[in-house]
Amino acid sequence: MCLFCKIIDGEIPAYKVYEDNDFLAFLDISQATPGHTLVVPKKHFDSIFSIDEETASKMLIVVSKVANLLKDKLGVSAVNILNNSGALAGQTVNHIHIHIIPRYENDNIHLAPDAHDFDAEALASTLSKILN
Ligand code: AMP
Ligand code: ZN
Repeated sequence: MCLFCKIIDGEIPAYKVYEDNDFLAFLDISQATPGHTLVVPKKHFDSIFSIDEETASKMLIVVSKVANLLKDKLGVSAVNILNNSGALAGQTVNHIHIHIIPRYENDNIHLAPDAHDFDAEALASTLSKILN
């Protein structure tokens, strides 16, 4: 059983902030910022590539509920919503989860990629691969 399935089953403790029939949200053990929360479906899916449509759509509703809980209870005014799918993206637990990372003044979190020059040819080439 995977780590998050064990948390869902109650075999491993977690700092639960929200629970319903299909989802659990708990504090990330390594808090990027205070209130950093993971939203996980109770049904195991490895990543964004294998999640079913019903769970995927419900998950965003739960993410919005939990973001608002953090806003109301912690006074959070900004969040980053993040999913790492695949090892190259930094996924370390292979049970899909969405990070909600509250943002604070001078919190030293850097998530934005570097800016790159506009390259029309590269964009056209990529688009043609995606569409064909
Ligand atoms: P990712 O790198 O996107 O796969 O995220 C996995 C996250 O799970 C990391 O941010 C870890 O800090 C977090 N994590 C690992 N073990 C636990 C645990 N037992 N309870 C809560 N969070 C955990
Ligand atoms: Zn699992």
